[in-house]
Amino acid sequence: MPAQLTDVPSFDLVVFGGTGDLAHRKLLPALYYRELGNQIPTDARIIAVSRRNISSEEYRNWALNALNDHLDEIDDDIMARFLERVQYVSVDVSANTGWENLETALAGREDVVRAFYLSVSPDLFGTICSAIGSHGLITDKTRVTIEKPIGKNGTSAHELNETIGSVFKEEQIFRIDHYLGKETVQNLMALRFANAMFEPLWNSTHIDHVQITVAETLGVESRAGYYDTAGALRDMVQNHLLQLLCLVAMEPPESMHADSVRDEKLKVLKALKPMDASGVARNTVRGQYRAGASAGGAVSGYLQELGKDHSNTETFVAAKLEIANWRWGSVPFYLRTGKRLANRISEIVIQFRDLPHSIFPEDAGTIKANQLVIRLQPDEGVKMKVMIKDPSSSNMRLREVSLDMSFAATFNVRNPDAYERLLMDMIRGNQTLFMRRDEVEAAWAWIDPILKHWGNDREPPKGYTSGTWGPSASIALIERDGRTWHEE
Ligand code: NAP
Repeated sequence: MPAQLTDVPSFDLVVFGGTGDLAHRKLLPALYYRELGNQIPTDARIIAVSRRNISSEEYRNWALNALNDHLDEIDDDIMARFLERVQYVSVDVSANTGWENLETALAGREDVVRAFYLSVSPDLFGTICSAIGSHGLITDKTRVTIEKPIGKNGTSAHELNETIGSVFKEEQIFRIDHYLGKETVQNLMALRFANAMFEPLWNSTHIDHVQITVAETLGVESRAGYYDTAGALRDMVQNHLLQLLCLVAMEPPESMHADSVRDEKLKVLKALKPMDASGVARNTVRGQYRAGASAGGAVSGYLQELGKDHSNTETFVAAKLEIANWRWGSVPFYLRTGKRLANRISEIVIQFRDLPHSIFPEDAGTIKANQLVIRLQPDEGVKMKVMIKDPSSSNMRLREVSLDMSFAATFNVRNPDAYERLLMDMIRGNQTLFMRRDEVEAAWAWIDPILKHWGNDREPPKGYTSGTWGPSASIALIERDGRTWHEE
């Protein structure tokens, strides 16, 4: 089944950090796929920028190698067409040299969308934005995309937002959280707001609790240096997990318009119950992986990968959150994320309440409460667990079955990577799947006290063996409430 495409206007996409890891692994492959899907207008251009002194020809060879590394299949004609629109410009943004090269490359194209993508270290975000402004590169159709992390805490996020905001208007700023571009996340909106049957049940009367798990089997590997300054709370919870929580918990927006959706997400973030020191001690768990086994092989611990004897950085977080509003009062949201866990899985589990009364005899078996499992990876899809009469039994025996829909298997289409959708949305100027400034700052306002209390805590993160589901305290966090983490 061919994918339905929305038109994209012509553009110049300037990728700062065009030789970096993100460009290599995500941005170039995403753009190639959009070329393959005939979604890139004929005269659109991609201008890669970094410090190194190479020609456009040399960059195209580098890009071709990157694409060969990351694509399963390459169509030679499409690749030739794609590479023709790619050029390279050398600018050292720290030394403030080479900007005239970019000015020349962009000159005379003021009528097309001019999109700047900052795929560089966050330390350079402010410098680049200021230079784009002072070199007169902002047109009526300019947008800027910034990658995570947006700050290390509320104060630094605010300062960064101020700097960017002094150059660009909020409607020109696209703060990316690639989780929002995932197919299943889109589907969460469709599930909730395109079906009449869920909304009446979507509240504390019918939902017992919600779980959000983002588990990785990889360790920190080459990102150890960066990771040790961040940790799982900043790297994953502040953005990805809280954004997922917002989409589950928000009120129905008036429309899919960017500000309608973002207004509702903001209300959820503002309703998160803040934690004091005892709340943090009781409702959060931080862990750090030790040596163990992952994907069938022996792996080192975090400290060995980092090359240090000591670090207080967490590679695992579990937390119990409460949303103080009418819809979600008394419904806990359990979040967990970590590296080197037992399985690579990202999912949202909506656990419905037990039946108020069973009409069935005891020997009919246990009636399990319904569960809706929204899988983000691997194998994106939705699973609804319901009770049925076991057809293999002549008696009334009850059995749980899954109404399981894998999107790839059902629709027989390639699941586009989140960056494909987000890049094209950004070119089109659609901010629905991007974070607004106040959302980012509200998320930090909830995270900051946890960072502070962890900082005062003398106890280091709890060790867990690689290849397990994290420290035992994470299991205790949910089991003391009489619930268990969803694992299958
Ligand atoms: P990276 O591999 O270190 O790449 C950095 C890029 O910036 C390189 O192209 C580098 O090229 C360029 N650069 C460095 N200093 C420069 C300067 N003074 N002037 C001009 N260009 C300069 O980083 P990355 O992993 O791609 O990450 C890029 C951004 O995406 C970061 O904000 C990161 O947090 C975010 N991000 C990355 C990932 C990921 O998986 N990689 C995931 C999520 C978010 P030269 O050395 O040639 O100048």
